[in-house]
Amino acid sequence: MAHMKYKKIDKTGDELSILGYGCMRYPHKNGRINFEETEKQIRIAIDNGVNYFDTAYIYPQSEEVLGKILSEGYREKVKIATKTHISKIKSMERLKKVFQRQLKRLQTDYIDYYLLHDITLEDWGKFKEIGILTFIEKEKKKNRIKNFGFSFHGNINNFKKILDDYDDWDMTLIQYNYIDENYQVGEEGLEYASSKNVGIMIMEPLRGGMLINKLSKESKKLIKNFPIKRSPAEWALKWLWNDERIDVVISGMSSQEDIMENIAIASEVEPNSLNEDEFELINKLRNNFKNNVAVDCTGCGYCLPCPYGVDIPLSFSYYNDKIIFKRGVYYSVFYLLKTTENKSYASVCAKCGVCESKCPQNIPIMKELDNVNSNLETWYYKLLYKIFKFVQRVR
Ligand code: SF4
Ligand code: SF4
Repeated sequence: MAHMKYKKIDKTGDELSILGYGCMRYPHKNGRINFEETEKQIRIAIDNGVNYFDTAYIYPQSEEVLGKILSEGYREKVKIATKTHISKIKSMERLKKVFQRQLKRLQTDYIDYYLLHDITLEDWGKFKEIGILTFIEKEKKKNRIKNFGFSFHGNINNFKKILDDYDDWDMTLIQYNYIDENYQVGEEGLEYASSKNVGIMIMEPLRGGMLINKLSKESKKLIKNFPIKRSPAEWALKWLWNDERIDVVISGMSSQEDIMENIAIASEVEPNSLNEDEFELINKLRNNFKNNVAVDCTGCGYCLPCPYGVDIPLSFSYYNDKIIFKRGVYYSVFYLLKTTENKSYASVCAKCGVCESKCPQNIPIMKELDNVNSNLETWYYKLLYKIFKFVQRVR
């Protein structure tokens, strides 16, 4: 059996598994969370040493499902990190209510890591006005919140300002992977957080699966021909765990195979172990990815729901597939098959702009949907789609 590695977080004193479980992408069946499968997977993770679980108030049903699964003897084996989002908090009263609800959903008396969710500098100001710091102090005294932090997708300057503005941050959660070394807070933010001695948790280590699913043929060939045989996920995770400033890498695992693969990788990584040739390979993969991918969408779904029904992440996923894998007909027709019935294709976008401010990757969604429209919704793809549907009907 693989043996999980742990890291002691200086600031909090906790020994955390270097692999954390992201509860944003539970397995689904018929459009709903598949509870039985989720339960199996979470138990497998815990039984194999994963002890850090990351959820949020606004992830649909994520806290409830986690709470129910942990309630049967697993709560004390793990640390729970959950988050509160400014869109749900307009006053101290509301903050308290949301927190109570989170305890109830998670079936626990305390939260190990309480985070302000995806804050901007402006949100931080609003949280302070509401009295977040007094609230945290009180809850820490009551032992209902053990540690306090924030997750962040903004730029490095604002990240530094938020870190500098409060002396008692325990941790931070940032997006980082080999594509994003210089994006959002990037390596500079990692170094800054490390100099402040706060716990550093990483999200999007595989960029929402893109570093597996959206690798070009050329990248796959580079990986295949490299003398050391590793999967795309292993390369991405090893690159992160090579960096000893990182404490926990949170992966949104949604199959038993993903979990076991990640646990096996986490069990044998060593910091500072990659050599020059291995870094060179990662550089090539990074360049290939940047040259090939059309839209940097991680599929997080924060931009949803669109009031007009556009399936934004799906649109970008098919658009990327078409560009990366150079199979225009195949991906365009499948895109139309997925979106025509409920009219969720890109051309439905009414340019209301609601989605753009919610995107942590700052994607110019409206402009990119225009590109999806002109690339995947052309008259000949629509004609092919109709022919395909007709053949399906008469068969
Ligand atoms: S801009 Fe377009 S995609 Fe975005 S929310 Fe409005 S209609 Fe939907
Ligand atoms: S467009 Fe932005 S918010 Fe929407 S799924 Fe993609 S990365 Fe997430």
